[in-house]
Parts: sequence; structure tokens; C-alpha cells
Amino acid sequence: MAKKLVVDQETCIGCGLCAAVNADLFAMNDEGKSDPVVATVDGDLETAAEDVASQCPVEAIKVE
Ligand code: SF4
Repeated sequence: MAKKLVVDQETCIGCGLCAAVNADLFAMNDEGKSDPVVATVDGDLETAAEDVASQCPVEAIKVE
């Protein structure tokens, strides 16, 4: 089942790591924070999203 890909805007510190690691899933917005490029992920994309989420220094990325 597809899961929602969410970036907590309050928590994100705008380090840019997620967008650098996977530009298919994350892009930096005008506020210098990360936004998900897609609303939901499943299969290989879910695995990729979980991988990036585990690298976020402030755990702002949720795959839920
Ligand atoms: S890795 Fe985390 S803190 Fe860095 S831009 Fe992405 S969501 Fe924000």
C-alpha cells in the first residue's frame, strides 16, 4: 500500500541532503526547506524514501 511522503517544515533545517541524494523525491522550496516531489510512495520508491529519511539529520522526513 502506498505511503504518504511528508517533510515536517518546522523540523527541516534546510541542509539540502535529501534533495541532493534523491531529486526524484525531494526538492528545496522558496523557504529553503525540503518539499516532497511526490505525495505518495510505494515499492522501490518507498524503499528509497525510507533510505533518505534515515539520513536526514533532524528526522524531518516521514514515510507514513
Ligand atoms: S535532509 Fe532533512 S533537514 Fe535536510 S533538507 Fe532534507 S528534510 Fe530538511
